[in-house]
Amino acid sequence: MALINDHFLKLPDNYLFADIAKRVNAFKVSHPQAKVISLGIGDVTRPLCPAVTEAMHKAVDEMAVKSTFRGYGPEQGYQFLREAIVKNDFLPRGIHLDPNEIFINDGAKSDTGNIQELVRWDNSIGVTDPIYPVYIDSNVMIGRAGVVENGRWSNVVYMPCKEENNFVPQIPDRRVDIIYLCYPNNPTGTVITKDELRKWVNYAIHNDAIIFYDAAYEAYIQNPDIPHSIYEIRGARKVAVEFHSYSKTAGFTGVRCGYTVVPKELTAGTLDGQSRIPLNPLWNRRQCTKFNGTSYISQRAAEATYSPEGKEQVHETINYYMTNAAIMRETLTKLGLRVYGGQDAPYLWIKTPDGTDSWQFFDRLLRGANVVCTPGVGFGPSGEGYVRLTAFGEREDCEEAMDRLARWL
Ligand SMILES: *Cc1c(COP(=O)(O)O)cnc(C)c1O
Repeated sequence: MALINDHFLKLPDNYLFADIAKRVNAFKVSHPQAKVISLGIGDVTRPLCPAVTEAMHKAVDEMAVKSTFRGYGPEQGYQFLREAIVKNDFLPRGIHLDPNEIFINDGAKSDTGNIQELVRWDNSIGVTDPIYPVYIDSNVMIGRAGVVENGRWSNVVYMPCKEENNFVPQIPDRRVDIIYLCYPNNPTGTVITKDELRKWVNYAIHNDAIIFYDAAYEAYIQNPDIPHSIYEIRGARKVAVEFHSYSKTAGFTGVRCGYTVVPKELTAGTLDGQSRIPLNPLWNRRQCTKFNGTSYISQRAAEATYSPEGKEQVHETINYYMTNAAIMRETLTKLGLRVYGGQDAPYLWIKTPDGTDSWQFFDRLLRGANVVCTPGVGFGPSGEGYVRLTAFGEREDCEEAMDRLARWL
């Protein structure tokens, strides 16, 4: 008899975005004239920039000619892209990586979910709370998260990020083997300073832990003192894997391309404590077995984000979203709401007024201003009492939504 992996049965259904859609649709049916604006969009909306689409057209044309046609590419990604990454994303920050430490992927979601295969099933994990659900759910599927009680997994250490601690996660007082960090953060839009990040790197060094660092939003950082990469911290190459994505950086959510950095110095011990195993060749082995590369067209598209025109155009789009974020921050702060994030990330994290819970505020905002937000509790227990707004919409919608909020509040 074939038996299923019953760890899957422990996973609660993720109804967050389905629940939101249901409530919004019900509202639209009963209020057909209302023009509902969504500030809950978790996807980019601006089109790809010309430098990128030109590179894609060119790549397609190459594919149509026998002499330049490409079949399977290297599982690790094409050298042209790995070199462009080393040169553009790391060298200017004083980080020297070898192209063999870069693994091109089809977006950061796959690798942030898959990376946990490299460590034993009985490692403990620590996550900031609220959190991008992929980190925990991928560990649940393999049986590492333990059992769930009241929305918390027994083998997961939750590090709350709330107003009370200024969204700075506290170093856990018990040992964790694997730590997931995401900065700039989805959903809170907050960032980590070099000093705070250094504490995590030191914790990992002293406790022989590994940090999985999700830098998917690094391109949104405006403050020059905020680190773009964990490798800006001394010693991080020994303890951290880092994930990047062109999805939010350059609007690649539908194109699919990102990369994972696995430094050669990064090692983990064997159970008998007798030896240290480097993770880079292990990840290479894993990718060669389970992954056949990202499309040539997507990789040429990613490469084009590093040309002078590409850089400028990508920057323009990010500025567009960050101007939305600034408009939202200013209005909401003026209205007396407590607003976090939105300065180095496309997300704003709003404390709901008067102790309203996330879903109550969602309903009130929808009825009162016809604006859709994302209830914070959907991202973890510490998200209760907050909602997330995103800056990924159209400027007009963003301004209109702020006018309505001003009238409503
Ligand atoms: C959007 C996002 C990603 C990137 O996902 P892709 O698979 O690259 O599209 C990674 N991490 C977080 C936290 C995100 O919000």
